[in-house]
Amino acid sequence: MSDGTSTGVSGGLGDTGARPEEVARRERAVRAARRDEAVRAAVEQGLLGPDAPIVGLLDVAGIRESAAELRAAFEAVTAPGTSVLHAFAVKATPLVPVLRLLHGEGIGAEVASPGELALARAAGVPSERTVLDSPAKTPGELREALALGIAVNADNPQELERVDALMAEGASASPLGMRVNPQVGGGSIEALSTATATSKFGVALRDEGAREWVVRAYLDRPWLTRLHAHTGSQGIPLALMAEGVAATYALAEEINERAGRRQVDTLDIGGGLPVNFASDETTPTYAEYARVLREVVPGLFDGRYGLVTEFGRSLLAKHGTVVARVEYAKSAGGRPVAVTHAGVQVATRTVYTPEAWPLRISAYDGEGSPKEGPDVVQDVAGPACFAGDLLAVGRAMPLLEQGDYAAALDTGAYYFAHHYAYNSLARPGVYGFAADGSGNVAFATVREAQSVAEIVAEAGGAHADALTSPSGS
Ligand SMILES: *Cc1c(COP(=O)(O)O)cnc(C)c1O
Repeated sequence: MSDGTSTGVSGGLGDTGARPEEVARRERAVRAARRDEAVRAAVEQGLLGPDAPIVGLLDVAGIRESAAELRAAFEAVTAPGTSVLHAFAVKATPLVPVLRLLHGEGIGAEVASPGELALARAAGVPSERTVLDSPAKTPGELREALALGIAVNADNPQELERVDALMAEGASASPLGMRVNPQVGGGSIEALSTATATSKFGVALRDEGAREWVVRAYLDRPWLTRLHAHTGSQGIPLALMAEGVAATYALAEEINERAGRRQVDTLDIGGGLPVNFASDETTPTYAEYARVLREVVPGLFDGRYGLVTEFGRSLLAKHGTVVARVEYAKSAGGRPVAVTHAGVQVATRTVYTPEAWPLRISAYDGEGSPKEGPDVVQDVAGPACFAGDLLAVGRAMPLLEQGDYAAALDTGAYYFAHHYAYNSLARPGVYGFAADGSGNVAFATVREAQSVAEIVAEAGGAHADALTSPSGS
């Protein structure tokens, strides 16, 4: 497992924000029970079967719970009346109905591409609850964002020059800020560590002359009123995340001091709360992180600054499950291998970097009931044509047999919503479920499964002659 997932929970003390073991045990049991009911109902209702061998399932109640926990965690530490916008990092689960569900739960959207902005708008997230952050915004994107009044964090001096030009053309309702890299260091996953010395994001604050440049940039531009940092995702310990926020806060204080007024009025502290992929328990919690922040950066919460957060993985990961049929069960070199329909196309990170992204796998029988039986060490493979397409290697669990189902847990963020079109494997359908606790489960289509006709169309089917017709030669 990556580190950072258990920071500060060991004592279970009330004032760390950790929940008592009793509460955690109940959470684990309730989540697993809801998931089991959903898998059984998906098989029963035909969402899963021989001709529909893979689906993504989303636990609607779980998503609502996480949204409520996030709001409550910050309400508990902020001065009354503090403006707090929780903007969901759309990249974690770029599905319109999910964005609308979160919007209904008081969560806005953090977007980083024209596609993500379009998804947020399609979900009905208003401009004033949307934040644009990408590191490579085109002039057209910036113009659109400023016209819509969407908050923009400029990534670098060149981008700030583009914003200057747009501001010279006319006023915008957009709150504007700069992204800084506090360079506090990385976590256990290099690819997700955004605050290393050489990270590609934001203005590297500890580089020579950079801090003074940022302060001057603000003093020269009274419309720069926000400051943004996102210290990393998964694998960053809470203390390091808090250090990044503290550095950003200190810079805001310095800018305001030198400006002689409260020019920076809002701090965007990014996302990145790590997720526990080892059990059904949420750890660390938003409450723990908020308390660590209050301890390390008390001034952040005294009401002088509005806050923006950008959590992604921690809002959705634990509420998604990929369920795939075991097409064949075989044995190779004495090792049982279950060949399933879930592999690199839905679990790309796990397949390519298994040490960093291990996933729990649950075994269900052909009726969708949890499988009993002695643990057998086996591999769980995907459908793609390369040897490394494995969801789990040497995993001890009840033996998966032909017609069973394998469920990859905690896949609600950065997994089945992030299709990788290897072997032209279809994007699976995604369904939200609501279980009423007495065995009745209602499903709602979030995204239909991609059809073979769509695969052909997206692969240039309309241009079949493009390379062979006379005009193309
Ligand atoms: C990816 C990203 C996030 C969300 O990170 P999570 O680890 O999913 O919480 C937030 N802000 C920015 C700028 C990001 O790039």
